[in-house]
Amino acid sequence: SRIVGADATREDEVVEASIRPKRLDDYLGQRPVREQLGVYIEAARRRAEALDHVLIFGPPGLGKTTLAHVIANELGVNLRQTSGPVIEKAGDLAALLTNLQPHDVLFVDEIHRLSPVVEEILYPAMEDFQIDIMIGEGPAARSIKLDLPPFTLVGATTRAGLLTAPLRDRFGIVQRLEFYDANELAQIVRRSARILGIACEAEGADEIARRSRGTPRIANRLLRRARDYAQVRAGGRIEREVADAAMAMLKVDAEGFDELDRRLLRLVVEQFDGGPVGIESLAAALGEERGTLEDVVEPYLIQQGFLARTARGRMATRKAWLLLGLKPAPPDGL
Ligand code: ADP
Repeated sequence: SRIVGADATREDEVVEASIRPKRLDDYLGQRPVREQLGVYIEAARRRAEALDHVLIFGPPGLGKTTLAHVIANELGVNLRQTSGPVIEKAGDLAALLTNLQPHDVLFVDEIHRLSPVVEEILYPAMEDFQIDIMIGEGPAARSIKLDLPPFTLVGATTRAGLLTAPLRDRFGIVQRLEFYDANELAQIVRRSARILGIACEAEGADEIARRSRGTPRIANRLLRRARDYAQVRAGGRIEREVADAAMAMLKVDAEGFDELDRRLLRLVVEQFDGGPVGIESLAAALGEERGTLEDVVEPYLIQQGFLARTARGRMATRKAWLLLGLKPAPPDGL
């Protein structure tokens, strides 16, 4: 797994459980999201109603799960957590829904991966707090309607485009998480260092933040690796030079790119003359899955302006040519 990969490893999961912010005030960055949700949560509390259903989308590691927990904490309700692929049968979802307390949050991660049958059950549950379930089999089978307590569905997905339109339409609140800037990430690193008891100087936190690809999960992971390095090779404190040396050892460059990013850019530039090149061709040439490229590698390269997604395929931008120490190819280098 990549040191700058945004998907959670086992180690990430264990540590994250202890450092996850619990309140909106501790949830750093994402100002518009915090502001809007703050108002909606307060309004729901004052009216003593369930919060409207919330869809959170954004690349892995940006804080979707964390935000779901924050919402439940701020509402003062329980959170039940599941994920799209885990709910196999209609009955699994029915069991979850009928066990909720009024105003509880049901968090469904990877909600785009629900099966169509399960999704059908979810529509009336979200809209009318009712489900229709079949009991019995054959000629004796019949459908019964069950009332549910009013609840809030919080769905998370890496890309809103993966959701079916009828499901998307049933969310009253849609929030998109953005990559964090270096300042916000440095704050997150300092907060995590405090909680984990890691000696980390402000400049050390800045070095880690710059390489974290806009992603808190990666920032927290790089912080742990910098701690290892500091303890074994330095005096135990993460100073600027220590952070730098730790990142160099991990082959994470100043942009936060690793070998895979650099291979992808080099491929587009050197083998496809800067593009456009189809995502399938890139995936085949790199020996990676198309979905991995789309979800995990591309978003940051695109957001940073090194790669462009066009109707005809991916293109390397000027910045990418320059990064590789090459002169951008005229005339259609972007
Ligand atoms: P996602 O569900 O989007 O993959 P998570 O919610 O699991 O991401 O976030 C990964 C980790 O990053 C969390 O455990 C948390 O410690 C940290 N994190 C995420 N968002 C924030 C934030 N806004 N402020 C502080 N830490 C954050």
